[in-house]
Amino acid sequence: METKLQWIQDELINLKEAGLYNRIRTLSSPQGAWLQVDGKRTLNFCSNNYLGLANHPRLVQAVQEAVMRYGVGPAAVRTIAGTMQLHLELEERMAAFKNVESAITFQSGFNANLATIPALVGKEDAIFSDELNHASIIDGSRLSGAKIIRYNHCDPADLERALSEQRKNFSRALVITDGVFSMDGDVAPLDEIYAIAQPYDAILMVDDAHGEGVLGRGGRGIVDHFGLHGKVDVEIGTLSKAFGVVGGVVAGNPLVVEWLRQRGRPFLFSSAMTVPDTAACLAALDILEESTALVDKLWANTRYFKTEMKNLGFDTGLSTTPITPVMLGEAPLAQQFSRELFENGVFAMALGFPTVPRGKARIRVMISASHETADLDQGLQAFSKVGKQLGVIL
Ligand SMILES: *Cc1c(COP(=O)(O)O)cnc(C)c1O
Repeated sequence: METKLQWIQDELINLKEAGLYNRIRTLSSPQGAWLQVDGKRTLNFCSNNYLGLANHPRLVQAVQEAVMRYGVGPAAVRTIAGTMQLHLELEERMAAFKNVESAITFQSGFNANLATIPALVGKEDAIFSDELNHASIIDGSRLSGAKIIRYNHCDPADLERALSEQRKNFSRALVITDGVFSMDGDVAPLDEIYAIAQPYDAILMVDDAHGEGVLGRGGRGIVDHFGLHGKVDVEIGTLSKAFGVVGGVVAGNPLVVEWLRQRGRPFLFSSAMTVPDTAACLAALDILEESTALVDKLWANTRYFKTEMKNLGFDTGLSTTPITPVMLGEAPLAQQFSRELFENGVFAMALGFPTVPRGKARIRVMISASHETADLDQGLQAFSKVGKQLGVIL
């Protein structure tokens, strides 16, 4: 007789057969250009540690000092007894860094979206959402109860069509896009999206998780990149990628930030960022404000690696950022490619459905300022070898 959980067993077998089962590798070293993965030293092409801050000595030092002074946990939600001076300091410093009026932090970027979208729109309202937006935007949108209207990926003309057809049927409208799309590495045309959303009186929100610390002057993000200060109502950021820590941030209009203090459910009902997280993020801001060296190195590495991959004959898709997809097609090929790379000392993730559309499986290489040119060369050599072996390149 089948048990009531037999379906899970069946689904897991299906995933394995389709090449879509997540085999999770375990690290026994800090983050950096090289990792100890499942007992093996490998070149790291997987992490979102864009600036190498996840194990930066200054962040580590700041955490040690803060922990000695404040302990580790906030021990309450922000609205009861969980708001520490450090949280306010981080929020003020983030707002200043990003040149916006106000900022509020959350436990993660995911939570920042879950907090913000339902606080801004509800049943009478509509969300105009890029079809490739991140899962946390989709989940936040569903939670809001608003009507979700998808427009074609990075297609301002299609957004205009959707707004002109449907805006009138709803009370409030929210236009949301990822800043940098995490699977393709392309950047949303936020200037055009702003120009289109504006006359429709739509609130404009961008999720800049992969742009924070990467795009704009000294890593100030996508709004800075396009010079749209004061025009984008809500900017979501994460502190878990380029910042190398964990946490989320909402920056922008002070009314939105104040509203989130009153109505953001993950703010009201889930405890705050921990002391180490907060102190480490403050140290990351110090580093970013002192010098653009890390951001500059990230981009130099990105240009070098992409050019060489194209020279080898790989298709790196639409990316214009350090996210470098290597397009392979079917998920089993991508998984095999990733396994062979690992055998050759390179840790690079295969991504398949549902993370990316069916038939668009790929290896995703994440470039970091922590890579040296010799590291990138070693990675390129492995890609060349495995690519030829599997008939992906000539
Ligand atoms: C990674 C990511 C998130 C989640 O950020 P966390 O801080 O890790 O929760 C949200 N949105 C986008 C677009 C992302 O790429």
